[in-house]
Amino acid sequence: MVISPSEFLRALCDHKILFETGVDGIYGRGGSFERALLGFEGLLTTRMAPDHADLLRFPPVIPRRDMETAGYLSSFPHLAGSVFSFTGDEAEARTLGSLAKEHGDWSALQTQTEVCLTPAACYPIYPWLAAQGAVAADGRLIDVSSFCFRHEPSDDPARMQSFRMREHVKIGTQSQVEAWHSGWSERGADILRSVGLETTEAPASDPFFGRTGRMLAANQVAQGFKLERSYLIAGSRPTPVMSLNYHHDHFSHDFDLKGPGGEPIHSACVAFGLDRVALALFSAHGLDDTKWPADVRGHLGLDELP
Ligand code: AMP
Ligand code: ZN
Repeated sequence: MVISPSEFLRALCDHKILFETGVDGIYGRGGSFERALLGFEGLLTTRMAPDHADLLRFPPVIPRRDMETAGYLSSFPHLAGSVFSFTGDEAEARTLGSLAKEHGDWSALQTQTEVCLTPAACYPIYPWLAAQGAVAADGRLIDVSSFCFRHEPSDDPARMQSFRMREHVKIGTQSQVEAWHSGWSERGADILRSVGLETTEAPASDPFFGRTGRMLAANQVAQGFKLERSYLIAGSRPTPVMSLNYHHDHFSHDFDLKGPGGEPIHSACVAFGLDRVALALFSAHGLDDTKWPADVRGHLGLDELP
């Protein structure tokens, strides 16, 4: 039976898998959701272990300057979130407090801070790497994970405003990055298949803003720079649960990243949408995780988790 995304959301909330907060795309996660998500992330850790990536974590905010340098506000102004705070005096604080209490407009009493909300887990990597000096001759492989923010409110539970992404990011010469990239679509398919998710692969594009954005998106598809693996979670269109992005030397130019000979370097990332994978598991195997197939529960380590 095909159910719509909003019907699926209702069912998830009825079963206390997700909890609504009153804002579309912002949910509390119940125990069974969280166990499925953590189980899948654990499976990823195991399956990626032979790659010996450098483990790195950043908080879910990035310096505003890095967001600007990456050009995010040109490409995705409609998705960006930036943090504002209060720096006024006591009288202004009283005005702010009472306006807020009445749910009035208190935006004029706040000023922009030095931070934005992280839009994709790999964004903090590029300025961090540039600060380390030239990239080693054999390249780098980095493991990152973060809550990410995108302002795309929706009643589709798979289109969240705040969601988790686990990534591996490869940085190196064009041939190193292409060699790493070429294996990942099948590898991703295999990991997802092991938990009962048979996915389809398709070329894709990022949701660039406006008319120029449509050209950028067409270009991205034509060059095969983005591939997605999708699963039919709800409704009639499969939802991407994993993306494989080849950035070419884009971040090298933005952040002045160089190889050992001073040449621009290439980068690519594989990103798993952890919340979407958890949703796909409930869609595929039912809302009662105790009844999921034994092999799926086994691969997710559900019988071992508290
Ligand atoms: P992207 O950077 O757009 O390729 O996103 C990487 C992965 O994050 C995608 O493959 C999705 O699985 C996941 N993702 C992207 N946008 C959302 C969203 N709004 N809600 C939940 N997951 C998302
Ligand atoms: Zn990435």
